Amino acid sequence: MAYASTNPYTGEVLKTFAYATDATVRDAIGKAHAAFLAWRETPFATRAAILQKAADLLRRNADDYARLLTLEMGKLFGEAKAEVELSARIFEYYVRNTEKLLQPERLPVADPAEGEAVLVHEPLGVLLAIEPWNFPYYQIARIIAPQLSAGNTMLLKHASNVPQSAAAFEKLMREAGLPDGAFINLYATRKQVEMIINDPRVHGVALTGSEDAGSIVASQAGKALKKSTMELGGADAFVVLADADLEKTVPWAVFGRHWNGGQVCVSSKRMIVVDDVYDAFLSRYRQGVAGLRAGDPFDPETTLAPLSSQGAADDIRERLRQAIAHGAKAEEVGPPVPNQGAFVQPTILTEIGEDNPARYWEFFGPVSMLFRAKDEEDAIRIANDSPFGLGGSVFTRDIRHGAEVARKISTGMVFVNHPTKVEADLPFGGIRRSGYGRELLGLGLKEFVNHKLIDVV
Ligand code: NAP
Repeated sequence: MAYASTNPYTGEVLKTFAYATDATVRDAIGKAHAAFLAWRETPFATRAAILQKAADLLRRNADDYARLLTLEMGKLFGEAKAEVELSARIFEYYVRNTEKLLQPERLPVADPAEGEAVLVHEPLGVLLAIEPWNFPYYQIARIIAPQLSAGNTMLLKHASNVPQSAAAFEKLMREAGLPDGAFINLYATRKQVEMIINDPRVHGVALTGSEDAGSIVASQAGKALKKSTMELGGADAFVVLADADLEKTVPWAVFGRHWNGGQVCVSSKRMIVVDDVYDAFLSRYRQGVAGLRAGDPFDPETTLAPLSSQGAADDIRERLRQAIAHGAKAEEVGPPVPNQGAFVQPTILTEIGEDNPARYWEFFGPVSMLFRAKDEEDAIRIANDSPFGLGGSVFTRDIRHGAEVARKISTGMVFVNHPTKVEADLPFGGIRRSGYGRELLGLGLKEFVNHKLIDVV
């Protein structure tokens, strides 16, 4: 699979990039390692100034950075601008907090006369990030901001359909003053990914992507005895309790399922609605989805973006076909989507029985699965009946009770009265087949540091 940038709205191939040669990859590892030896000794204030400069440059040129996202993977221009801002905020989070978060910790010892024990947090070295196309900048910022601020250096293998975004971010970091080699984008093949993981100068891999990629890369890392974090797929439950305020809940459901063209790991993919309000919810939801306007992602009136590629659209249609073949009822909603562009008609799936394999899939596009729950307990049961465990949400007028229900949903993140959201100052990650490890905050920062004990007797 070559690296190619194709506009999913027009179908135009914008730019292609040759695969890296093995020699380029070897050279990059060497450069990243050499950069690490100096970077780990670089005062935190210098590292922070570079990250702040990156944030400033993102903001100053937000329109240009956003334009590239919309051209390359089709997201709405407004959402692209929000992604640029979010990436800047992530940099700033670590500018403000890394030094404090990585302070050495004095450990309580039973007998102080025996000396003192201190835990220091030291960078490991070169790390590899493998990232998906759905948030081309945010995904990079989410890993490089903490890891560069901790003193590690990074190699990037981005998704093959967003090579320009990857190059733009590499250039951004250079312009921000990051030393040569501290962050290198590689148009690597899968074989080269394995080669990188096996190199003794590389100390870990962070992957965000599908379960398939996660399981392959995690096993390569395991075999090489390298640390890994896996941010994988999800099928977030959007639980609607009987007392939910439907005026507010339904617009959140429409947004939660359809932002970023429905291609978010934490999209609200499964609406689980208690029987009392199911019919009212469905009729309002149908109306809400029908109000979406598919079209040119640069047009401010457009509210439904094309999918990232024609292949992605074909994949969803095939999955829908299989869901229907196994007994689900599919209802296409709203005015027909344009003929031009990688669109899929928004579809509501109901009657998805427990023997229907689609019940346990992740639909990465504008397909909503609706489930009628007998009551709250049944809603929680359905929410937890998933191989995934990423995010989720509960809608109710009683927020205290909502928080109690949230505790019963077994995922990495649950929101009350909001679809799962992404913020610079909230942690991100899941359990079960949604992966392991956390990104952002101190949790993400400390995934790839050596928590070293220094015990002085
Ligand atoms: P994908 O195919 O797994 O691709 C993700 C990245 O992994 C790409 O850079 C891809 O490169 C690379 N990759 C795939 N197979 C690989 C292998 N065998 N060895 C090395 N690298 C490999 O994922 P996708 O389908 O494009 O992205 C959507 C998935 O990502 C969804 O499941 C979504 O839920 C998940 N996701 C999760 C999070 C999270 O934080 N939990 C966030 C966003 C997305 P190529 O492009 O070259 O194949």
